[in-house]
Amino acid sequence: MSEYFKAGALLKEKRGGDHVSHKHAHKKKAIMDFISKLNCEEPHYCRGKTKRYYLPAELSINKLWLMYNNSQTDNLKVKKSYFRNTFNQNYNLGFGSPRTDVCSTCLQFSEKIKIEKDNNVRNKLLINQRIHKLKANAFFGYVKEEQSDLLTLSFDCQKNLCLPKTPDQSAYYSRQVNLFNFTIVQGSSKSKLEPSNVFAYCWVENSFPKASNQIASALYHRLQNTELDGIKTVRLIADGCAGQNKNTTVLAMCTKWLAEAPRHVKTLEIIFPIVGHSFIPPDRVFAQLEKEIRKREIIANPDEYYNIIKDFGQVITLGESCKVFNWKDEAARVMKPVGRWHFQFKNAKRYILKRSKKEGNVLIKGNIHYKHDDGVFKNVNLPGRLSINLQPAEISPTNKISESKASDVRKLLINHYGDNWHTIERLNFFVPLISDPSDEMQMMTTQNTETIEDVMCEPQEEITSMLI
Ligand SMILES: [Zn+2]
Repeated sequence: MSEYFKAGALLKEKRGGDHVSHKHAHKKKAIMDFISKLNCEEPHYCRGKTKRYYLPAELSINKLWLMYNNSQTDNLKVKKSYFRNTFNQNYNLGFGSPRTDVCSTCLQFSEKIKIEKDNNVRNKLLINQRIHKLKANAFFGYVKEEQSDLLTLSFDCQKNLCLPKTPDQSAYYSRQVNLFNFTIVQGSSKSKLEPSNVFAYCWVENSFPKASNQIASALYHRLQNTELDGIKTVRLIADGCAGQNKNTTVLAMCTKWLAEAPRHVKTLEIIFPIVGHSFIPPDRVFAQLEKEIRKREIIANPDEYYNIIKDFGQVITLGESCKVFNWKDEAARVMKPVGRWHFQFKNAKRYILKRSKKEGNVLIKGNIHYKHDDGVFKNVNLPGRLSINLQPAEISPTNKISESKASDVRKLLINHYGDNWHTIERLNFFVPLISDPSDEMQMMTTQNTETIEDVMCEPQEEITSMLI
């Protein structure tokens, strides 16, 4: 009250509250800066709506903590528990390959069933678990099926391969150039995997992005170059990642291909798995490949990757032996927007395409069940447009990467190979991608030494004069 009479306001309450965390705010910021610089792997297939990113499998929180403390001055070093808490509370990061053989839906069911005491709820869970498993089995029935008049192609993207692959620790927080491998396997899941039926469509991000046009173009190339004698049905089995496979771009390409295919090919099917159960033949190829890639300490250019892949399948490079077409824009020109289609595009598990009675056109049916046929064939093209009218323009490869990536890769190369990295033949691939490194580097070093000398000399003189 005396304070109130003096100043006209009550004293501020000082008891309670958080007096600790702000003391360490600078440490927390340093940790978060460190973590945000790490190079995360894209979240592979959309497991629900979670945005979980993945760090390389050989890392752990413990290793990250050691790396962090080694890179910081004493006043920013932290205890392991503090680092762990910051890591867990602020990020949704995991270690290792996001793809596992264990399905998260299956796991959730068995966990819930274990602890549920109410019999009614428990029974419902058991039924739903059974349905989930039946769906997965129905999908694999299609992957396994073998018929003399059926041709099956299954396809998937391998996780991005990075260039240059080096054992240096700095690679963990450096962006690298991505090499994409979109693999198509011919045959059912029972077929042997041999280079004769494994086709690896590869490209590096400096030439094309990884998008639906590239996927559609690779599939088109495969369909056009496959022996079709005696085939009535072509079955495409995809991983259900919407950005790459499950879109009108791929579907438009399929309608065009079927419109032009030999007449004995009656139908084309595209089948998508249920989330969590998508282990298809290309994944077996990737598992073998990744084992082989792990053995190499250094992979310095695309050809070195291609040489590894060649042992497992035929390497076909996009922009060279396989042309890339703009199927996406052409799909929008010829087809109706999906909102006006006769079935829910997103929910369909199986698309079935067949020729229309109208010459040059193809009809589409979408089924939301694996076994039960509930769709109808209808035209999805705009009035007056036919599937055969799809004439996508060719897209030429570029040769560039982003500024920030170029600067990261340059640092990595200097770190591993020294300032004269661009004279090493093995690294020729990087030279045109990274703007003249010699000039820029020389400029930077001369500037740096000058400023350092200035700073070093002047205070010394001052100190000596003061001493005198
Ligand atoms: Zn499952």
